[in-house]
Amino acid sequence: MRDGLNIKWPEGLKRTKARECVLSVLKDSNRPLSAMEIFEEIEGRGHTIWLSTVYRVLDAFEEKGLVIKTSLLNNELTLYDLKATGHRHYAVCVECHKIVTMTNCPMKDFKPSFKDDEIEVIGHKVEVYGYCKDCR
Ligand SMILES: [Zn+2]
Ligand SMILES: [Zn+2]
Repeated sequence: MRDGLNIKWPEGLKRTKARECVLSVLKDSNRPLSAMEIFEEIEGRGHTIWLSTVYRVLDAFEEKGLVIKTSLLNNELTLYDLKATGHRHYAVCVECHKIVTMTNCPMKDFKPSFKDDEIEVIGHKVEVYGYCKDCR
């Protein structure tokens, strides 16, 4: 269990066994997870769940703003993390798909400007990939 994570169950979302299992796995992880990893962790804890259920739960969590979905490697890899974790970026190893959390936000001072304030910027995505220590 990670410290300092204050997770409130989203309003209007029914508590089900599957949803509680998924939330508990995300809470216990110190890195974002793929749906498959969440599925395997739940099975490993002795619960029975369908992978399709994990995806449905994650979609519901994303819709309720509980979870952030990040796609890497041209959408080949989709990861889920709790929004309460805060603003983070990840780099992925193209060889073994290991995920490494960036210690900063490289876009912090990125201030794009538009004619006539056409766009109000509310967020950004950064995709970084390379070789991890083991694969170099
Ligand atoms: Zn690697
Ligand atoms: Zn950022």
